[in-house]
This record gives sequence, C-alpha cells and structure tokens, in this order.
Amino acid sequence: MNGYIARIFTSFIDVPNEIATAVYFSGCSLRCKGCHNKHFWKKENGTLMSDDQIMQKINNPLTSHVAFLGGEPTDQIEFLLHMCKRVQNETEKKIALYSGREFEVLPKELLDYPEFIVCGPYRQDLHQTGFPASSNQRIFKKKDQLWTN
Ligand code: SF4
Repeated sequence: MNGYIARIFTSFIDVPNEIATAVYFSGCSLRCKGCHNKHFWKKENGTLMSDDQIMQKINNPLTSHVAFLGGEPTDQIEFLLHMCKRVQNETEKKIALYSGREFEVLPKELLDYPEFIVCGPYRQDLHQTGFPASSNQRIFKKKDQLWTN
C-alpha cells in the first residue's frame, strides 16, 4: 500500500521525553489560517512511498515511538490505519498522532492504535510559544485503554 509522505526523520520533540520517528504525511484539507506547513497542503508535494519503505525507517532501534503528523494524516485514513496496524503488529513501538481534527470526530477504529494524540486545528489567534502550538489544541493520553486529557 502507498501513501504520500512529506518527510521522515528522528524527532526529539514530537513525543515528550521520548525519541520518535516522525512521519509527516503530505496533504491537508483543513487549511488553518496561519499554518506554518503550507507546503504540505498539496498531497502531491510529498513523495509516494510504500508501507515497506516507511517501515524500514520506523525500524530504528533508537526510537520508542512513531509519530504520525502532517499535513493531515487522517486525510489518508486508509493508509494511516494500515501503517498503524503494521507498527502495532510488527514492532514494540508506541504510536503518537497529530491531527487538526477534533478528538470527537476521529474514526473510532483509529483510536485503537495511538497512546498519545494532539488534536484540533491551529488557531493563529490562540498561538502560544509553548506546546501545543495554539491553546485550543488538546492533548489526549491513553492509559489502561482509557483516554484522558
Ligand atoms: S491541520 Fe496542520 S497542516 Fe493542516 S492547515 Fe492546520 S496547521 Fe496546517
């Protein structure tokens, strides 16, 4: 299976206190005003990559997590679900997800996979220097199969 990916790199900031492989999906239909990743809006600005190519990069012994970001990962929901399943079935790594969509509208099936979700659109009027980028965005953590924020 193939998906459009903007970039993949080892990240020290996307999952607090953890080292992650950050997989940036290209393409975003949400178009938040003031978005800093406008070059990711067009899916075709990324590279069409296979799940095997991405898994090779995810299989990095230095990382404990995989973070799916964008762009908007849920715009390629079938590919995102496929990648989550592969990570869960083939590695010991935990999954983090960044989405511009609100937690309540994320597909139920998707919520089975991540342990950590940052969600909500970027709001320029609510920009903050800390984490997350705007104060309306919410952080959810899963513990014993229950989500808290
Ligand atoms: S969801 Fe993210 S990538 Fe998409 S427009 Fe908003 S800030 Fe930009």
